[in-house]
Amino acid sequence: MEFIIIVLYLVFAVAVAGFAHDRGRSYVAWLLLSLLVSPLLTALLVAISPNLKVKAVESSRAPCPHCAEQILRAAKLCPHCRSALDPGWSTKRRYQSRPA
Ligand SMILES: [Zn+2]
Repeated sequence: MEFIIIVLYLVFAVAVAGFAHDRGRSYVAWLLLSLLVSPLLTALLVAISPNLKVKAVESSRAPCPHCAEQILRAAKLCPHCRSALDPGWSTKRRYQSRPA
């Protein structure tokens, strides 16, 4: 009976590590945490923490300076308004302060 409980504990710990990896977290770190603490508590922690893969996609985008639609920072031509974009357009400040 104890053997089945240990196997289930390990299976759930591996599943939680896979769940964490799908959300952009370290597989090994979350597997160890899941084994040391509890797979259920660790799964809850992963579920309430922000999804890092979604954040990475969002940070690769910026609003177009012409139409304000979200486009890739590497874009040279806006797919929405067809405006040509200067190199490094996404790193420039949109409103520059005037000298006093
Ligand atoms: Zn645009």
